[in-house]
Amino acid sequence: MSPALLFLIAAGGNDAHAWSHTGNVWPRRELPIVWAYADIEEDSMAWEDVNTAIENSWGIWTGDAAACADLNVERYDQNEGIRSGYRYGFRADDVPILSFEDPEDQLGIGGVLAATVCWPGGTAFDLEGKTYTYTTDCDIVYSSTVNWTSAEAIDNNQCSGEFSLQAVTTHEMGHLWGLGHSCDDPNDVDDRGRSNYDNYAGVAPTETKNCNNGNLRDAIMFWSVGPCDNGPRGGFTDDDITGLYALYGPFCSFAATEDSEVRGGVANGGLEVCFELSCNEEPSAVEFDFGDGNTLTEPNGDGVYCNNYTTDGQFSVNLNISGSGETCGEWEYTQRAPAAVLVCGEPAPAEGFDGLFTYEGFDGLLYQMVNQVDTSVYGCVEQIEWHVFAGTDTSGEPDQVVAAWSPKIEFPAEGTYTVVLNVGGPGGIKAHALEIDVVEVKGQGGCSTMPLGAGLAGLAVAAGAALRRRRR
Ligand SMILES: [Zn+2]
Repeated sequence: MSPALLFLIAAGGNDAHAWSHTGNVWPRRELPIVWAYADIEEDSMAWEDVNTAIENSWGIWTGDAAACADLNVERYDQNEGIRSGYRYGFRADDVPILSFEDPEDQLGIGGVLAATVCWPGGTAFDLEGKTYTYTTDCDIVYSSTVNWTSAEAIDNNQCSGEFSLQAVTTHEMGHLWGLGHSCDDPNDVDDRGRSNYDNYAGVAPTETKNCNNGNLRDAIMFWSVGPCDNGPRGGFTDDDITGLYALYGPFCSFAATEDSEVRGGVANGGLEVCFELSCNEEPSAVEFDFGDGNTLTEPNGDGVYCNNYTTDGQFSVNLNISGSGETCGEWEYTQRAPAAVLVCGEPAPAEGFDGLFTYEGFDGLLYQMVNQVDTSVYGCVEQIEWHVFAGTDTSGEPDQVVAAWSPKIEFPAEGTYTVVLNVGGPGGIKAHALEIDVVEVKGQGGCSTMPLGAGLAGLAVAAGAALRRRRR
């Protein structure tokens, strides 16, 4: 039985464009995104044409031009994709909804054609010093005051001031995936020293908004589209692609193979763990750093990367991977799988101690067991069981079984007993037996607030000595 161990990796390109990302990214395991329409239809366009525009827009992000990102979506499968009860607006409900009316004016800003709002979840990864979070939901809302039209109508010159639903949707979907706007690079300053950020609120944006790199103006993620303008229609620019691939680019998952145990003992030659890669693009260089000082750049098994762990510890595994190709360009990333492998020695006394436990008389026939097992590698001690036998024969069933770290054990009467501490974990099972001549101890009778530890041992020993002296 091998524990499920799967690490998904999002590639971090050297240059994250589509300046800049929103900071949200979909976890790959959430794909395909199941999206739906709100149940109010768009009324400036035939519904059939709306469908075509939306499907085409999704197709641009999931098609060959973005093949390296390997994205996929699925239409909500009821009522032709309409999710009844969801009328309009943004709401965090884990279902990406496209709604065509904004009667409560949630878009808020005059002149906005549409907006995408995403809700962040847990931390995803760091990219160029910025922390990204996983998206749990993104809704797209279109302005209800805008008249929309189809790409086909624009192509056929049947447009009089309407906006291309497909062009705007393609752009909004870019936000949904986590892309920001091209031409928002604050370092891209014009000859009057104005950055794009400075010009963001310009009245005539295409004139005042600086964009010295003309290529960026052609990007899907360029921030504006004019009336009767079909936009790039799937013509990804380098900026779009670099931005997208930085979030969803070549990726690999790596996992321990089915027959590899990732927790085990160091005895018998060590613990061998093999990892396998699953990539959507063949990497040209792979380096596993197994965390114990060993690294590997070539498979040393049947397509798998194996390491024999010969020292105990909790090990994080790092994967450094890079590649280049026509589809994906150059890419590289490092992925860390913290505490992926646990290797344990046999249970042993902690440093400075001889046995797994000692004991001290506590009160009456109650004795305090003092556990000295080494717990320096987290996870290596899983089971503790104390067995109490009358006399010295430990072959039969114990008279008492206690499962606690350092219990107080009460003996039924004075006499000789054997206490066995059994300690189990991934490194094996170890037992340690001590014979105890139990005599009634006059301790702190009934005091339940006595501190444990060294102070306790000193007090109990003193009490026991006093008792023995009295007996003589
Ligand atoms: Zn935008």
